[in-house]
Amino acid sequence: MNDIIQVLPDRVANQIAAGEVVQRPASLVKELLENSIDAGATDISLIVRDAGRTLVQVVDNGKGMSNTDARLCFERHATSKIRNAEELFHICTKGFRGEALASIAAVAHVELWTKEHSEDLGTLVTIEGSEVTAQEPVQAPGGTSISVKNLFYNVPARRNFLKSDKVELKHIIDEFERVVLAHPDIAFSLHHNDHELFRLRRDGLRRRIVDVFGPRFNERLVPVSEETDLVTVGGFVGKPEHAKKTRGEQFFFANSRFIKNSYLHHAVSRAFEGLIPEGHHPSYFLYLEVDPQTIDVNIHPTKTEIKFEDEKAIYAILRSAIRKSLGQYNISPSLDFERETSFDDIPLNPDGPIRVPTIEVDPDYNPFDADTGSSGGGGGDASGRRPKTHQNQFDWTSVYREPEEVESTPNLPMEEERSVLAYQLQGKYILTHIKSGFMIIDQHRAHQRILFEQFQKSLSRQNTATRQLLFQQTLELGAGDLSLIEEQQEALQQLGFDIERFGHQAIVVRGIPPGVRETGVLGLIEKMLDDLKNHRNELGGDNLDNLARFMARNLAVRSGAKLEKEEMHQLVDELFACEQPFVAPNGKSVLITLSLDELDKRFQ
Ligand code: ADP
Ligand code: MG
Repeated sequence: MNDIIQVLPDRVANQIAAGEVVQRPASLVKELLENSIDAGATDISLIVRDAGRTLVQVVDNGKGMSNTDARLCFERHATSKIRNAEELFHICTKGFRGEALASIAAVAHVELWTKEHSEDLGTLVTIEGSEVTAQEPVQAPGGTSISVKNLFYNVPARRNFLKSDKVELKHIIDEFERVVLAHPDIAFSLHHNDHELFRLRRDGLRRRIVDVFGPRFNERLVPVSEETDLVTVGGFVGKPEHAKKTRGEQFFFANSRFIKNSYLHHAVSRAFEGLIPEGHHPSYFLYLEVDPQTIDVNIHPTKTEIKFEDEKAIYAILRSAIRKSLGQYNISPSLDFERETSFDDIPLNPDGPIRVPTIEVDPDYNPFDADTGSSGGGGGDASGRRPKTHQNQFDWTSVYREPEEVESTPNLPMEEERSVLAYQLQGKYILTHIKSGFMIIDQHRAHQRILFEQFQKSLSRQNTATRQLLFQQTLELGAGDLSLIEEQQEALQQLGFDIERFGHQAIVVRGIPPGVRETGVLGLIEKMLDDLKNHRNELGGDNLDNLARFMARNLAVRSGAKLEKEEMHQLVDELFACEQPFVAPNGKSVLITLSLDELDKRFQ
């Protein structure tokens, strides 16, 4: 008989378990912060290098560990938080599985400094791949510092699986935000590569939200509060008018633990029904307190999915609590200074005619240029020279003809020809005829395409036009947004923004790209931040392309905007000077054509 079953050595078992607990640097952040909270810390610092690849360190002023515990805490199933299975149902701590530190120590270099407040000396333990390499008494402040270095140094496959620093840092910030929002009574800070990203004082929940997401949130929050035997609901929802098309800040906490729960999310959406446009998402920061015996937090190792015993009742309570708060708010709206700068669309200067920004084009670029150049009288300056831009110079209809047809087309005086060429349908489409039939152009998509290529060009150029503002504008932002702006500084400059950091929590905008409305600029930047965050989550996509796409989408003339004839002509001209006039930057068609043949068939 061959016995083939072996008990895995601890080191291997830990490494396997680590796969579940430690997926990326952000997992370290979650586990270490939670341990510090469980240790009763009131001040916690998180220090990160290279998006957590080389260092994640958490320093707390919690109760610290004894000499023995400092060694034991790295053992699997070593926990001070439960003693038997029965206690699983009364959990009030974040951790209880006793596997985080063991898992972390299996896949990184760990250094632990810890001292109980009543002791004179603390303990230093270093451990590498589950092997203790040193343990000695040390001088240390009361509390604990755990440094996790070189994550996955011994698991190259996992290391290679990590995404770009930007993505990993974003995960870290997400995790950090979830923890700090659950504990406004604890002071936190976050440093990344010597930059301070967050410094959060101990204070109420409103203050914490504002410190994390920026002062503009203060005016947006509507308090929610409801107390029943089953559940206590607290926190805030965002005012309906601040709902966004992108899912923004949506947080549920149950007994001070961040949770995901699509069923309860639905309850919130229902509460907002009829108050926000379809496809918009409210922000919320909702805190549920329930008897720990009525929830099961043990269904997933990272404990973000939680089962409630009486989910249906909680759904109903939550929905009506939010409804009630929104109702109260509607009756007595608070002063809202944000409205001035918030907006949905940014129409191009609504007072004057809509001007399509000009594009610099090489006049030789178009193969039909020779034809258009000879049209005479169609443009050009007084000296008879053709201007550098192709505006009003280029007979776009020729583009859409077959080359040989162009040859045989008599050169009509352009204005005359054009006076019959373009019609606007429903403020949305430009209808125009081509040699073989007619063409319907979606004005919004067409303009998006034009602007997209224009912004792409400015992003690849060195000097971009910037319109300096007469009065600079400041925008207060949360630390996460500030670091995002700093990260994008160069690209924003290329686009034509002149933005600088201003003090601790704000940016100042001194200049904007031509074509951006001065009054809409802060809203545009806020929207851009949301957009950037979303794309970071989606992993991938060229960042600069995304920015160009964003600008195009937001600045393009809207459906419903009335266009003058000249504007239509200009738009069509610009469109056919594009490299890809037929598709919008989002991949959708810009125009359709209907040939005479097709028309004839329809009339048969
Ligand atoms: P768990 O949190 O599930 O108990 P961990 O592996 O995260 O498991 O931690 C093991 C034990 O180490 C904890 O139960 C706690 O006693 C101790 N410990 C971990 N971090 C700290 C800390 N920052 N301060 C004090 N004790 C800690
Ligand atoms: Mg733990």
